Amino acid sequence: MRIGLTGGIGSGKSTVSALLADHGAVVVDADRVAREVVAPGTPGLTAVVSAFGERVLTADGALDRPALAGIVFADPEARRTLDGIVHPLVRARARELEAAAPPGSVVVHDVPLLAETGQATSYDLVLVVEADVEVRVARLVQRGLTADDARARMAAQASDEQRRAIADVVLDNSGTPEELARQVDTFWAERVAPALG
Ligand code: ADP
Repeated sequence: MRIGLTGGIGSGKSTVSALLADHGAVVVDADRVAREVVAPGTPGLTAVVSAFGERVLTADGALDRPALAGIVFADPEARRTLDGIVHPLVRARARELEAAAPPGSVVVHDVPLLAETGQATSYDLVLVVEADVEVRVARLVQRGLTADDARARMAAQASDEQRRAIADVVLDNSGTPEELARQVDTFWAERVAPALG
């Protein structure tokens, strides 16, 4: 079974991933895969440098993310070029990781931008995590972001309504970690376990 997991920044995706892993799911973290495919020495990094030049490299030859972000932020064409390089590599690597999971595994793809990239139909089930905006800002500030930065990142993402439109199940993480864990238990019992037969 393939589950797509998404939610806005600070909603609790990583937390839900960990809870699902406790139930035995294999988690594929799209952000982590996206970093891997452009790590030093990869064909992905070579392709990005061919497209954007050495200015997107740090002194020690790694991808200079802020420099790259600066280039693609204001230039939709550059953004499409970058996505055209990175997205296929991410999809291929995610498929590889999924293929390596034991047969019959529940594979959870943690994809922050699932609503934005239109991949929702490729999963058996889409799980969306939500939390009130102010709760998310407070949690992100605790994690070291400024409130302004947290809000700017949220504004650049899909809205709760857009994520709800692709959701099969919505979890509300505005409460305590215990309340979230109970929702994940119920989700597993009602939507995952029966499908495993
Ligand atoms: P995401 O992966 O969606 O950005 P995280 O799972 O990393 O979100 O959660 C954001 C922050 O909020 C983390 O520091 C996490 O530990 C914390 N957090 C998540 N859920 C709760 C909760 N129910 N109560 C308090 N803190 C939480």
